[in-house]
Amino acid sequence: MDWNQFEDSWLAPFAFRGRDSRGRQYPEPPHAFRTIFQRDRERVVHCTAFRRLMGKTQVLVGQINDHHRTRLTHTLEVAQISRTIARRLRLNEDLAEAIALSHDLGHPPFGHAGEQALAECMQGHGGFDHNLYGLRRVDVLEERYPEFPGLNLSWELREAFVHHSKARELREHKSLLEVGAPFLEAQLVDACDSLAYDTHDTDDALGIGLIALEQIDEVELWRRTAGPIRARYPALSGDAFRTAVVRELIAWQVNDLIAETERRLIDCRIESLADVRACTMPLVGFGPEVIALKCGLERFLYEQVYRHQRVLRMANKGRAILRDLFGECVARPELLPDRHFARWSQAPASVQRRVRASAVPREASLQRVVADYLAGMTDRYAREEHLRLFHPDGDL
Ligand code: MG
Repeated sequence: MDWNQFEDSWLAPFAFRGRDSRGRQYPEPPHAFRTIFQRDRERVVHCTAFRRLMGKTQVLVGQINDHHRTRLTHTLEVAQISRTIARRLRLNEDLAEAIALSHDLGHPPFGHAGEQALAECMQGHGGFDHNLYGLRRVDVLEERYPEFPGLNLSWELREAFVHHSKARELREHKSLLEVGAPFLEAQLVDACDSLAYDTHDTDDALGIGLIALEQIDEVELWRRTAGPIRARYPALSGDAFRTAVVRELIAWQVNDLIAETERRLIDCRIESLADVRACTMPLVGFGPEVIALKCGLERFLYEQVYRHQRVLRMANKGRAILRDLFGECVARPELLPDRHFARWSQAPASVQRRVRASAVPREASLQRVVADYLAGMTDRYAREEHLRLFHPDGDL
């Protein structure tokens, strides 16, 4: 049995089958034994931006310890949870996994602070949005295949980037949104993203000591999860207690997400992919009680963690580094590495000749070239580049 037959026999009627894909921008012959979404997933794992997720901040900038989350481990958690739920709902697990593994590829260094800084720098120059940068990354900036620019991912993976973005007015991507509502696998990854970060930000903040166990007891979702564990294991404390509660927090949200989604699929009489595309309300989601409880947790995280003095100081420094780098590179583009400088259409011909022929298109906007360069950096690389450009003792 080949995979297409397997998908027909296993997947729910409302799941997305590989053979229903709108295909790739540059048509390729089908693979002997992998579906289009399995190949997408593998292309994502092998790209440079994926490996750089290891050096990018989730919430906490810099190396605080060896076990708080980075964008890479966050991504793997989202992928794992998405796969578990996709399998349970008989959705396309490969598609969900591919979307999850690629969903944060466009994040600049220094987390949301970095994105904010680039958005400010790019005001009046087309703006900056990490989802649309992610799409540019996989469409043109990754150079891995002689046959086509970028990763030549399926229409559906590209559609998921655009659905994720708030900047929906962008006309160049309009066609990706015209197919209708996002398919279930894309909706699922969105929900799992929030499930994962709410939970692991809580875990990391406790682990690092930004907040104390007594403090988080004011959050109802935590209290109601922790209560039964305290009753069952009265001697449990510290890290062991925290991880037991975190595990239950994930389990509660996963079970709720599955039950609520099943309910909505029945209520809305969803029996096919066409029904999903035509449905105007989100089909994958948490029940009302969990939504309210998660809001309470998110409010707490916002006040006590994301606005914690240590986090604010790290974020501020990240923003300053990117602003400095942006200003300097725009003022003196010749300081850019050749590969990036040569992408600017007004760069001198001598520089363009020094760089081997590249499939990445030239850019009329120097600001866009600089933003692409900066957004691709890891936290460490951005800090080192800052030292090199501004610190008298930094390497050249
Ligand atoms: Mg994410």
